[in-house]
Amino acid sequence: MNAHEGADKKILRGIPVSPGIIIGKAHLVDRSRVKIFYQYLVDEKQADRERERFREAIEKTEQQLIKLKDRMPEHIKEHGFIIDSHLMILQDGMLTEATEEHILNEKINAEWALKKSLNNIRQMFGEIDDEYIRNRLFDVENVTERILRNLSGEEQESLAEIANRVIIVAHELSPCDTTEMNVGKIMGFITDVGGRTSHTAIMAQALEIPAVVGLETATKQIEDGDLLIVDGTSGEVIINPNDSDIIAYQEKQFLHERYKSSIAKTSHLPAETLDGHRIAVKANIEFLEEVAAVRDHGGEGIGLYRTEFLYLRSKGLPSEEELFEDYKEVAEIMAPDPVTIRTLDLGGDKFASDLSVSKEMNPALGLRAIRFCLKEPEIFRQQLRAILRASAYGNIQLMFPMISGVQEILDAKKILDQVRQELDERQVPYDPHMKVGIMIEIPSAVAMAEVLAQHVDFFSIGTNDLIQYALAIDRVNEHVAYMYQPFHPAILRMIRAAVQAAHDAGISVALCGEMAGDPLCTVILLGLGIEEFSMNPRSIPVIKKVVRSLSLKEAKSDLKKVLQMTTAKAVRDYLTERMGVVLAELGITEHLATSQMDS
Ligand code: PEP
Ligand code: MG
Repeated sequence: MNAHEGADKKILRGIPVSPGIIIGKAHLVDRSRVKIFYQYLVDEKQADRERERFREAIEKTEQQLIKLKDRMPEHIKEHGFIIDSHLMILQDGMLTEATEEHILNEKINAEWALKKSLNNIRQMFGEIDDEYIRNRLFDVENVTERILRNLSGEEQESLAEIANRVIIVAHELSPCDTTEMNVGKIMGFITDVGGRTSHTAIMAQALEIPAVVGLETATKQIEDGDLLIVDGTSGEVIINPNDSDIIAYQEKQFLHERYKSSIAKTSHLPAETLDGHRIAVKANIEFLEEVAAVRDHGGEGIGLYRTEFLYLRSKGLPSEEELFEDYKEVAEIMAPDPVTIRTLDLGGDKFASDLSVSKEMNPALGLRAIRFCLKEPEIFRQQLRAILRASAYGNIQLMFPMISGVQEILDAKKILDQVRQELDERQVPYDPHMKVGIMIEIPSAVAMAEVLAQHVDFFSIGTNDLIQYALAIDRVNEHVAYMYQPFHPAILRMIRAAVQAAHDAGISVALCGEMAGDPLCTVILLGLGIEEFSMNPRSIPVIKKVVRSLSLKEAKSDLKKVLQMTTAKAVRDYLTERMGVVLAELGITEHLATSQMDS
C-alpha cells in the first residue's frame, strides 16, 4: 500500500510552537548523543594533556558558534542572542572550571570530567519544575554535546546541507541547528522533546516555519521518507495520512496562507470598533530583541515588559547600567508610544540562581514579585533607578506586580520617591510625570480596587495569575490545567469589579493576561470597557481585526447576557457560537490556547 492509501496511518499530538501547515516527506536527523564515549583514568602528566585537549575543544566550539552567528540570515540576526547565550555557557565556571578540576583532581579523561560537570548541573537544576529552567538546562546539554563531539572528532549531519524539501524529524534540535536550516528547503520540524518557551521554539517562530515539539515518540514512529502532515497550530502530526486527510489539510493550508496575508495587510490599521470606539492594542515582551516584532505586528506600545527574564538570563545580577541601557533602548525604539515596565516578578515559578529566593512549598504563594522586592530593597532600588533614568528617553510607565493591598503600594512608592530624590541630588534626568500603576492579579486587590485606585495612575489586570489565585489552581500544574477557566463567571465578575473601580476613580485600565490575545475573549473585554489589551506580539493583528469587526454597543449587550450565565461552559458555548461566526467571516482559523484550555 502506498502512503496515500493510509498505510500505517498514525496521529501524534505534541506542543504547537510555530503555526502553519506543511505536508511533506520526513527526514530523520540523528541528533543522538555522541556514540563513542570513553571513561578512563590518567596519570599526572596525561591529566595536563587532557586539560589541554579540553581547552582546545572549548576553543573549537567557540569558533563554531561564532561562525554560526556570523552566517545567520539577515532576517533572524536579531535572534543572535540565542547563540550568545550558548557562548556564555562556554564561559560558565560550573561547566568549564569544574571540568578542569575533575580532570586534575580525579585524574580522569576530559569526556568523563565534562559528563560529571553536566550531571552536577543536572542534579542542581533538574529538580526544579519550571519550564524556563528546563529549557536553559537543555541549552547547557546542547553546548556540552557540541564540546563532546569536538573532543571525540565525531561529525554530525549539518542541516545546512539538506538539499530536498523535507520536514525534519529529530529527537531534539538545538537552537543552533535551527539557525543552520535553509528555510528554502526545510519546510518545518518536529521533535520528541522540547517546550513552548525553548529557544528552538522561538527560532521556529522567527523563521516562520511550522513546528511541533514534545511529541515524545516521533523518531520511533516515523521512518525516513514517510509522508507527514504537520499542523503547527494545533500540534497534530499525521503519519502516512490518507487522501481525504491530505485534501482536508491542503484546504486548511490554503486558508492559513490567505489568512496570514490578509491579517498582515491590515495589522497597522487601528483597532476601532464599527461604532468608533478605539482600543489600544499593545504587546507583552520579555526581551529587548522582541521590540522589532512588536512594530512589525502593529503593536501600539508595550503594555507589559516582563523584566525578570533579563535577570534570569544574566550570570549574576545585571548591573544598573545594563538595565538602564536595555530599558532606554526599548523606550527609544517605541517612542512616542508608551512602554510599561513591570518591576521584578521573580519568585513563584521564575527565579534567578544568584538571588537568595529559597525553595518554597508553595512558590506561587511565596516570596514573589513585589514581596521579594520589598524584602530586598537594594535590588529593587537598583531597578527603579534604571527605570527612572530610562524614562528621560521615551514614554515609560512603571508597574508593580502582585499587589495584594494598599500597604505594598505605599511601601513601593516610598522607595520610588527616595530614588527620585537621590537622582535629583545627583541631577540625573528622569521623567517626573512617569505614570505608576499596578497589576490586579490577586483577589484581595480586586476586593480593594476602589481604594487602590486612589493611589495609582492605572490598573493592568493580569488574568493569568488572577485565574490561578481566584480558582485556587496552580498555573504550572498540568493536573489542574483543565480548571484554568478564563470564562468562569467569578473571573468575569472580578474583571468587571476592577474595571468599575478604575473608571469610578478616573484612571485607565488595561488587561495583559493571555485572555487579551484570545479572540474568543475580545467581545467580553470590549463590553467590559477595558481600554487597552496587551498580548504576545503575534496575536496583535488578529485581535485588531476582531475589534474592527465588532461594535461596542453589541459587545455590551453580549456582556450583559454572559454575566447572567452561571457556568464557564455556558459562557464558552455562547462565545464559541457568537465569535465563531465573526471569526469564520474574518477567515480567522487560529484560536488560541486559552480557549482550548477552557474546554
Ligand atoms: C498575569 O499574571 O496575567 C500576567 C500578565 O503576568 P505573568 O504572566 O507574567 O505572571
Ligand atoms: Mg502575573
